[in-house]
Amino acid sequence: MNGRADTGDESLATPAPDVSASEPITRRFQAANAGAEWLARTTRWVWSPCVLVLLIVALDLAQNARRWSVPISGLLDEPAHLSTSALVLLAIAGPRWLQRNPFATFSALIASMAVDIDHIPLYAGLPHIADGGRPYSHSLFTVGVLAVIALLVRGRRALVGGLAIGVLLHFVRDISTGPGLILLWPFDFETVRLPYELYLWVLVFAAAVATTRILMHALPARPGR
Ligand SMILES: [Zn+2]
Repeated sequence: MNGRADTGDESLATPAPDVSASEPITRRFQAANAGAEWLARTTRWVWSPCVLVLLIVALDLAQNARRWSVPISGLLDEPAHLSTSALVLLAIAGPRWLQRNPFATFSALIASMAVDIDHIPLYAGLPHIADGGRPYSHSLFTVGVLAVIALLVRGRRALVGGLAIGVLLHFVRDISTGPGLILLWPFDFETVRLPYELYLWVLVFAAAVATTRILMHALPARPGR
């Protein structure tokens, strides 16, 4: 007992907080918080497609500045292949797919450079592996063989499928640089060479699509979705 009589007067009791008044403020705070989180998540990646395009252009300017030795030319060319492949893969597959398939992504990016290993026998003077340009293995035939193997093997599908994707991505650059590609070997020996400007437009378009997909991916999920 505290000695005070219970008068039943409710005005003496501590007033309950007005939940309805604070609700909009809480909601605004949550929205601002989600917005800040989205901005932090997005700014980390949103510039990466533009950076990749600028890097490729810079590497190509350096490569065309003078006649380099084969190793130096390779050191300038392979990062441009990796950047092109990452950019196009990001634009086509999107960041969600890349996150869910790290093994295939890694395999594809490695293959997008490793396919140039077939130049080594060419530089060593081995005959019958090229017709004056890039080796015959730089053709859709290689992609087809890898794709069939990927369908047949169990447990290594992500690895081999990634290799097929990587070789295909490699051609995005090769078809518009150097001597082009004998794309349909062994069925056709015609060299396919597209303008370099078209390659640049593909990069710009891929960067725009990739940036949009990064922004969409970083958007906070709506409640109930
Ligand atoms: Zn190549």
